Amino acid sequence: LEAAYQFMLRVVVPGGVATAEQWLAMDELAHKYGNGTLRLTTRQAFQMHGVLKWNLKKTIRTINDKLMTTLAACGDVNRNVMSNPNPHLSEAHEQVNEWARRINNHLAPRTPAYHEIWLDGEKVESSEAAGEVEPIYGPVYLPRKFKIGLAVPPSNDVDVYSQDLGYIAILEKGKLIGFNVTVGGGMGMTHGDTATYPQLGRVIGFCTPEQTIDVAEKTVMIQRDYGNRSVRKNARFKYTIDRHGLDWFVDELHKRMDWKLEAPREFHFDSNGDRYGWIKGTNGKWNLTLYIQSGRIQDDGDYKLMTGLREIAKIHTGDFRLSPNQNLVIANITTQKKRKIVELIEQYKLTDGAHYSALRRSSISCVALPTCGLAMAEAERYLPTLIDKLDVVMDEAGLRDESIVIRMTGCPNGCGRPALGEISFIGKSPGKYNMYLGASFNGDRLNKMYKENIDETEIISTLTPIINRFAKEREQGEHFGDFVIRNGYVKATTSGLNFHD
Ligand code: SF4
Repeated sequence: LEAAYQFMLRVVVPGGVATAEQWLAMDELAHKYGNGTLRLTTRQAFQMHGVLKWNLKKTIRTINDKLMTTLAACGDVNRNVMSNPNPHLSEAHEQVNEWARRINNHLAPRTPAYHEIWLDGEKVESSEAAGEVEPIYGPVYLPRKFKIGLAVPPSNDVDVYSQDLGYIAILEKGKLIGFNVTVGGGMGMTHGDTATYPQLGRVIGFCTPEQTIDVAEKTVMIQRDYGNRSVRKNARFKYTIDRHGLDWFVDELHKRMDWKLEAPREFHFDSNGDRYGWIKGTNGKWNLTLYIQSGRIQDDGDYKLMTGLREIAKIHTGDFRLSPNQNLVIANITTQKKRKIVELIEQYKLTDGAHYSALRRSSISCVALPTCGLAMAEAERYLPTLIDKLDVVMDEAGLRDESIVIRMTGCPNGCGRPALGEISFIGKSPGKYNMYLGASFNGDRLNKMYKENIDETEIISTLTPIINRFAKEREQGEHFGDFVIRNGYVKATTSGLNFHD
């Protein structure tokens, strides 16, 4: 008898776009083989938890049958390429999403092993013996995972500065003319090890849409060749850049591409959050962004989120878009279907999240306990409770409608991009967190540790006077992260090299 080992499966969804049929397939698999819930991740992917070992193959095969894959959702390769989830907001959004898909496909591993192992492909001889080598990754792949995101200003919803490689769309008169390229961002670190730190990507130049793939391919190859393979904690691309210098990287990139990036273009980001509610796309179809607490799709008492979305998927001719902030867009709703979908939304109370405080709707948490083996403390199961208590403080200060980017992770690995929260908590031990303050509202500045290893009582007693003072003394339009910097609670952190100062 074999022990009932459980696994987590992550499904790649480039740009976060899933058809209604794919949504139904994931819903069915979650009930048949998973724990009856789905999770939308901060990289716009699906996660299923609780898949038993003997059901893995059947689950992966079904995912593949629905034209999705788990290949490269994990591992030391390029991960799910992120992009603004609403490509029909404008023609340019649609194009950016298409480039995200192309970059994703170009960097997908070519190995036949995945098919041989999971999809019953017949294995005749080893890939290498057959002369098949990974054209981009080579025989040993990357030293660590690699992350790419494409942002469309003024929204920085993909947190482009947290990506190893980022593209910032540049539009002229509504038309996409190219992208500013950023390199060297990343969130992970290790508690107590100052040689590890979160870092912001830096803008190195501009390229046309057609050049994005060459930039991505050569950047990944440089990391393949120069990334630290001896010390895994320092293997991410941000450390390669910081070790060799940005100028070295740009020279190396130009040499390998045989052409040069142009000077970066002007752009401006407003925020890194999502915009909720209905919006009509340029294609005349409707899109509804729903707040999903911690990205968890499940039925919970009277709140039948999972059932409601399933019923919508059965009649929806558009698609579903997973947002980088763990929310969901029911996208491309035709005028003919809109009335029926609105009825279902009301029947299942799916817009109840709209009544939540702005603080809650600006929150992200990673999975953490009980399913993540690296977690040191709770995140998904605890953040809603902490926000209940912070909501009281915010209400009393008259700040119920004030968005403050708040993030919580169970460990410093950084899956919930905690170094970019205006207020963040990173798990230290059960019930204890390091608290960080001072990232910017639009994701272009890191936060800094304000208190170490504190419990809920100290979190509330520390934040209450700061929030009250913010309510009274903030300048017109000033965000919380800027306020705590201006008032000296923490120093502004514009480079990861100063994160621990
Ligand atoms: Fe990621 Fe750490 Fe959260 Fe696990 S506990 S999901 S590794 S941030």
